[in-house]
Amino acid sequence: MKSVHPSSPSFQPGRHLEVLDEPVHDAARDAEKMTSPAVCTACGAVYSEGHWQWTSPPSHAMQMRCPACRRMAEGRPAAHVAISGAFAQQRGGEIAQLVREVEHREKTAHPLRRVMAIESREDELEVQTTDVRLARDICVALMDTYNGKLNVDYDEGDKLLRVKWVT
Ligand SMILES: [Zn+2]
Repeated sequence: MKSVHPSSPSFQPGRHLEVLDEPVHDAARDAEKMTSPAVCTACGAVYSEGHWQWTSPPSHAMQMRCPACRRMAEGRPAAHVAISGAFAQQRGGEIAQLVREVEHREKTAHPLRRVMAIESREDELEVQTTDVRLARDICVALMDTYNGKLNVDYDEGDKLLRVKWVT
């Protein structure tokens, strides 16, 4: 359960994505020493010169699991996007399709940006991602597509982006 932080501002309409401009680091994971080059044994992404890329691994690449595959194996998303309201219920299929399109575009350039799950609940659609920036891009795409009828709120503690349909 999410605890309410006393100093949290109340829900405000408009875009709040500036909070995500600085990538949020998973301190424990980032502290791990990365040996370059490395190749992920699960997805084949290659870590070289400080970036994960889709490329052929050199023969001496160290074998490991990339952070995205680890998150997926552990069921530990970096961010959630919760889309609520009548909008989410009525247009769930359409929204899921848009989310997958954004993922495809981002993942092609950034191997660690993936959608872990799209879950349909009673009153909301929840998207789990392996990367906070992908969650932000999904929100931007939703707002661009549905033209200003969405409010976005971000809970930094929970890494939760709440998108609310406003009629
Ligand atoms: Zn991987």
